[in-house]
Amino acid sequence: MRLILLGPPGAGKGTQSARLEQKYGIPQLSTGDMLRAAVKAGTPIGLQAKAVMESGGLVSDEIVIGIIADRIDAPDCAKGFILDGFPRTVAQAEALTKLLKAKGKDLSAVIELLVDDGVLLSRIENRARETLAAGGTVRADDNPDAFKKRLAQYHQQTAPVSDYYKGIGELRTVDGMAPIDEVTKQLDALLAH
Ligand code: AMP
Repeated sequence: MRLILLGPPGAGKGTQSARLEQKYGIPQLSTGDMLRAAVKAGTPIGLQAKAVMESGGLVSDEIVIGIIADRIDAPDCAKGFILDGFPRTVAQAEALTKLLKAKGKDLSAVIELLVDDGVLLSRIENRARETLAAGGTVRADDNPDAFKKRLAQYHQQTAPVSDYYKGIGELRTVDGMAPIDEVTKQLDALLAH
């Protein structure tokens, strides 16, 4: 199963991807997690990405497309994968279509989690509080200023990605404002068909 989860920052893509990973035994590929690991490790990509990520901007298409092109070729992706946070621009979506086509593969589903802007900031603030309470380190971009920029980027650059998949008849949606277990049920129902 090759699946894309779309939705704004704080929509619950990471939470739901982790559940789908367990259920279907395919890896969750989060470009955000991969970039954060690169920043932490101080790799050349991490050094390029650090400042733009902290400010809530988008890393270049070239970098993230390169990361995904390599990652989906790894042996653990043979049965499929869940993309979380990629594609985030139409150029990334087009590049993914080409990459898969070159391998003779298709997407199984593209699902958008619909969440109103009004609830996203409080979700991000909760995530930061819970991380702190658990003794973890809060993401450098989980603060109101960077979040506003991430949301603006989402509307400008990533909302058109939904239109791209709608245009090719692949987009499905779920209510991302429902309780977490309910969203999981809606996803399961969509994926069962
Ligand atoms: P996320 O964990 O998905 O919220 O991503 C955190 C940050 O990583 C984003 O705000 C971007 O700076 C960067 N990032 C993650 N995925 C992408 C992508 N597909 N394209 C560009 N930048 C990305």
